[in-house]
Amino acid sequence: FHVPPAVNEPVKTYAPGTPERDAVLSTYRKMWESQVEIPLFIGGKEIKSGKTKDILPPHDHQHIVGKYHTAEKKHVQDAIENSLEARKAWADLPWEQRAAVFLKAADLVAGPYRYKLNASTMIGQSKNIYQAEIDAACELADFLRFNVEYMSQIYDDQPESDSSAWNRVEHRPLEGFIYAITPFNFTAIAGNLPTSAAMMGNVCVWKPSDSQMFSAKIVMDVFKEAGIPDGVINMIVGDPEMITDTILAHPDFSGVHYTGSTEVFKGIWSKIGQNITKYKTYPRIVGETGGKDFIVAHGSADAKVVATALSRGAFEFQGQKCSAASRSYIPKSLWPKVKDFLVEDVKSFKMGSPEDMRNFITAVIHEGSFNKLAKYIDQAKASDEAEIIVGGNYDRSKGWFVEPTVIVTTNPKYETMETELFGPVLTIYVYDDAKFEETLHLVDETSQYALTGSIISTDRYAASLATKILENAAGNFYINDKCTGAVVGRQPFGGARNSGTNDKAGSKLNLLRWVSQRLIKETF
Ligand code: GLU
Repeated sequence: FHVPPAVNEPVKTYAPGTPERDAVLSTYRKMWESQVEIPLFIGGKEIKSGKTKDILPPHDHQHIVGKYHTAEKKHVQDAIENSLEARKAWADLPWEQRAAVFLKAADLVAGPYRYKLNASTMIGQSKNIYQAEIDAACELADFLRFNVEYMSQIYDDQPESDSSAWNRVEHRPLEGFIYAITPFNFTAIAGNLPTSAAMMGNVCVWKPSDSQMFSAKIVMDVFKEAGIPDGVINMIVGDPEMITDTILAHPDFSGVHYTGSTEVFKGIWSKIGQNITKYKTYPRIVGETGGKDFIVAHGSADAKVVATALSRGAFEFQGQKCSAASRSYIPKSLWPKVKDFLVEDVKSFKMGSPEDMRNFITAVIHEGSFNKLAKYIDQAKASDEAEIIVGGNYDRSKGWFVEPTVIVTTNPKYETMETELFGPVLTIYVYDDAKFEETLHLVDETSQYALTGSIISTDRYAASLATKILENAAGNFYINDKCTGAVVGRQPFGGARNSGTNDKAGSKLNLLRWVSQRLIKETF
């Protein structure tokens, strides 16, 4: 059985004079004044609870672009009931028909909704256009298309049979509903977590992040237009603790698909434990959480390659990727050159509104994030063990702007070498060239997270030594590249330790977590 082959959505350039540049900018301007009112989506109905919150772009926190309605407990219960009602028809629909709906969604993302998705991501999450394009347009379309391909492989995969017995496997959806919790930093992840479960016949209650509501609404519009039936994906937002507690107490809760902080995920895990006797089935727990991702350079590396990997890996989207490089280990012999290139590169970055496409850096997501980053920057300024070599300023007057900042520390266990900051702060430790192997062990020992990491080296032996010693320190390991920018269908993404269950987003492995197999043996 064949589905249309999945192909990565080509990334548009948005160079001056291109039609896409004009299109996205005019969409941006319209949306900027839109005063959109975002309802809850329950059973295909748009519900206005009357309790609203304003949507304020991070780069202009006094300008209201719209508001969203928040759920009360009864809305959460309604969303669960509606999903269970929708499950009856959805779970029994031939999978090809489900596949077709998601392929249609992919085409809507890459076609008529592309500029709306990008512009809403630029406004609501303060992504520059290039970061919005690789996320909200391309990665979201890729997730949908590649997952449909993996889905077809799963349904195709059948056990051996012979003339005495016909063995077959049904990949049933889980019995109940799935809770999808998505983060602010990727519109593609917001689209992927509910759809990957729904594709396999499941129904979902989806809770986007409060800070992603502006683009979450457009994602929901895509789902609707693609023909995902009412109630299959319900979108609710509001007090996260109330929503989570209500969902996890329900006997039909059958799994959580999560991306977000380590702390919240651990809280969910233990609440599931506390409720375990209530459930009809053991819930599946799938999550991608924090990171403290590293770039290690070997003495054989090219200094410019190292500096570029650092400046891009650490500062794209203001470092707000789970995969962002936030600590680095550079050999003494290479450091003077790496430092010069890096400082020069970072100084060339322009900062401001994403509407001005020359700006590589825009604001961080919200006040909480701004305050946290400012605190660690101030600590570094006051510390004997740290020196800021570029950046170090922040300004809250118009938006939550934090300069891309590089800290150099003499202590490899300095706080910002180990604590996840989720922002544009990179900490570097300069090591003695003779201690390369020792440094690799140090990186591993200080990796309580294990999401992404890179080794940059032209020496093959050094690269393979790093690959071996760091085998458990990163779920996505890059040799001679930065540690961000995994592409669906090429580099399935996820990590272990405190970074998650490593059920790789955009993979067959992930989709298999959303099915419950029934083996049927029939004899004649
Ligand atoms: N897939 C993204 C990357 O490789 C990161 C996703 C995330 O931040 O969760 O950069």
